[in-house]
Amino acid sequence: MNVEGMATQAPVILSAQPHSDGSILFVSPGGHVPILVTATWVRDHCGCPECLQPNGQRLFDVSNLPEDPRVERSEVVDGRLFTTFQPDGHIAMLSPSRVDLLLEDSTLPMRARGQ
Ligand SMILES: [Zn+2]
Repeated sequence: MNVEGMATQAPVILSAQPHSDGSILFVSPGGHVPILVTATWVRDHCGCPECLQPNGQRLFDVSNLPEDPRVERSEVVDGRLFTTFQPDGHIAMLSPSRVDLLLEDSTLPMRARGQ
């Protein structure tokens, strides 16, 4: 793999695809092994203006989120990951700094290894 000129800090998401029934999102960050992340995690860490204040405070109560969120579709725009959820149709936004969090979060239940 050619890593010349690749930024060493914030990884850039190259692509993201929902898997099987939409409970799992397959994320491919540049320079890292692909990661399997649960839909719930992405929803919990949404950084859209409806969910997150500029100071980092959450604007929603986790207990008010749909119990079993499913990813309808996911796309990367300008390094941000936009994920549309069912059943509520919410579009979650993960900025590059949130993606960092994703890569560091060792509590994630699933992670692709050895690829
Ligand atoms: Zn949101």
